[in-house]
Amino acid sequence: MNLNIKLMKDLIRNISIIISIIFILIIYGCSKKVNCDKCDASGKITCNICGGDKRYTSSFTCNHCRNGYRTCNECSGEGQAKCNYCYGDGYSMQPCSVCGGSGLDYNTGGYGGPCHFCGGAAMKNQPCHKCNGDGKIECEECGGDGTVVCSYCFGDGSYTRENNCNICDENGKVSCIKCLGKGYIIE
Ligand SMILES: [Zn+2]
Ligand SMILES: [Zn+2]
Ligand SMILES: [Zn+2]
Ligand SMILES: [Zn+2]
Ligand SMILES: [Zn+2]
Ligand SMILES: [Zn+2]
Repeated sequence: MNLNIKLMKDLIRNISIIISIIFILIIYGCSKKVNCDKCDASGKITCNICGGDKRYTSSFTCNHCRNGYRTCNECSGEGQAKCNYCYGDGYSMQPCSVCGGSGLDYNTGGYGGPCHFCGGAAMKNQPCHKCNGDGKIECEECGGDGTVVCSYCFGDGSYTRENNCNICDENGKVSCIKCLGKGYIIE
C-alpha cells in the first residue's frame, strides 16, 4: 500500500516534470521570431496601388463625346454646310457662258447685237460652280462626316488622370500584410 502511494507520487512528479519541459519547449523552443520573408524584415512592402511610384493614373470615359467623336458644330452633324461662294443661293453672278463675258452675240461675229443669252449684260446668274447649284457644300470642318474628333480626349473616348496615392500617403510603401508591419513572424 505504502509502496503504491510512493510509486504514484513518483509518477505524478515525473509527469509534472515532463509537462513543465513541454511548456518550456513551447514557450522558448518552438516559438521563435523569424524574419518576415515578404518584407525582408523591414515591415514595409511596396504599395500595390501606385507600385511605389507614389502616383497612379486612373482613366475616365470622356463625357464630351461618344467614342472619341463629337457632333460637328459647324454643320450640326449634317455633314453639309452652306456654300460660302453663293451664300447658299445655289446661283452666283458669273461671266455669261454663251458670250464668255463679252456681252456680244458671237453668232453674228459680234455685230448682230447683244448676246441673246445675257442680253448684253455679260454677267448672268448661273449655277454656282462651287456647289453646282445645291447651295451646300461638304462641311470642311468634318469633311462631310458630321462628326469631329473630340478635343477633350483627342479621339480616345477616355482620358487618364494622375493622382497622388493616398493609400500609402505618397510613401510608395505600406505595412507588410504578412507580419502586420512588425518585420518578424512568431513561429
Ligand atoms: Zn513582413
Ligand atoms: Zn501608393
Ligand atoms: Zn452673254
Ligand atoms: Zn454655291
Ligand atoms: Zn461638319
Ligand atoms: Zn472625348
